[in-house]
Amino acid sequence: MPLLNNQGLIPLNTLALKAKARRLYRVCSDAELLQVLDALQEKDFLLLGGGSNVVLQTEAFDVCVQQCSKGIRLLDEDQDSVTIEVAAGEGWHDLVSYCLQQGWHGLENLALIPGTVGAAPIQNIGAYGVEVGAFIECVSAIDRQRGEVHVFTQAQCQFAYRDSVFKHAFADRLVITALQLRLLKNPVIVSDYAGLQESMRDSTPQALFDAVIALRQRKLPDPVLLPNAGSFFKNPIISAEQAQDLAREYPGLVQYVQADGRVKLAAAWLLDKAGWKGYRNEKVGVHAQQALVLINHNEGMGNDILALARSIQQSVAATFGVNLQVEPRIY
Ligand code: FAD
Ligand code: NAP
Repeated sequence: MPLLNNQGLIPLNTLALKAKARRLYRVCSDAELLQVLDALQEKDFLLLGGGSNVVLQTEAFDVCVQQCSKGIRLLDEDQDSVTIEVAAGEGWHDLVSYCLQQGWHGLENLALIPGTVGAAPIQNIGAYGVEVGAFIECVSAIDRQRGEVHVFTQAQCQFAYRDSVFKHAFADRLVITALQLRLLKNPVIVSDYAGLQESMRDSTPQALFDAVIALRQRKLPDPVLLPNAGSFFKNPIISAEQAQDLAREYPGLVQYVQADGRVKLAAAWLLDKAGWKGYRNEKVGVHAQQALVLINHNEGMGNDILALARSIQQSVAATFGVNLQVEPRIY
């Protein structure tokens, strides 16, 4: 299997943070992965898919493993649905496009999210009111220490808002190798997010997919041009009482009541109000159109991004009494 020595990791993380790996393994099958796990003494390696949700704070890693396995297989089909198995190294957006072409629906709102299929369950990727967890039947993974295969049912994944068991009890203990997804043959149109309905030329899945892509291209910075890791903070979910108090003080507060009565605040609005939108120092900054996105403008390092994130957290806590949680994983 491909082994590269002394590899720079700038092209492997969308924040373009400077780091290197003494050994980089690109694994293309479960057999290759098991071979690498067997050979490695230290199982605490850096595991990457597309590197679009990580902050590399460490400058020199001993080992980095990149999951590159490919394949989409139809496992089962009935009148209403299909069940497919997808290898972890497939590109997420490629999968969404492929499923749409096949007439397998549900993932259209998740178009253009960067990264790999294997990373999608880690934070239960979501956009425009849809989360991947709703379509996952099971997740297959290999334990880093023992090389054993684990299969997690949807319930065992403990999917929540940008969260799953893979960020907690199993954080950095597994390599996800494949997902089984159940998709629908009848179109599912979820279009209640602001701007989405208006951008759709008709109410077909293709129009939904195209509208999501157009909205994202309009609002979100392309990491190739402005290195970033998407939303840097999760939208905070607070109690109804705290939200009422805040709304009295800030009448424009952007808030969404959740099924359990708690309230989700738009973190981007908090950053904007606290004066961060468009901020930049000589290395890193906050995107001028979407304040949740931190940008590596000029060869910033992981610590530059994290120092900015800490200043933002302190300022938002001091202004609104709300704690922001960092979304990307820090290594
Ligand atoms: P990486 O960044 O490589 O890894 C992320 C984490 O997953 C790390 O902890 C890594 O070790 C782990 N991991 C990766 N592969 C595996 C595997 N096979 N097995 C076990 N662990 C693994 N996210 C959303 O939810 N919604 C969005 O709309 C969205 N939009 C984005 C827009 C932009 C411009 C960017 C840059 C990011 C966006 N993201 C979004 C965040 C990111 O794209 C997703 O979290 C994505 O799933 C990360 O995939 P990746 O392959 O790049 O993961
Ligand atoms: P947006 O549509 O401008 O919305 C701003 C915020 O308000 C979003 O964070 C969204 O929450 C929330 N929101 C809007 N309409 C809502 C509704 N009807 N019900 C509940 N919440 C609502 O956001 P955007 O920045 O352009 O991003 C569009 C979508 O892509 C969002 O879903 C966002 O999460 C996703 N995205 C995620 C990342 C990432 O890295 N995680 C990066 C880019 C975009 P939610 O975030 O909870 O959806």
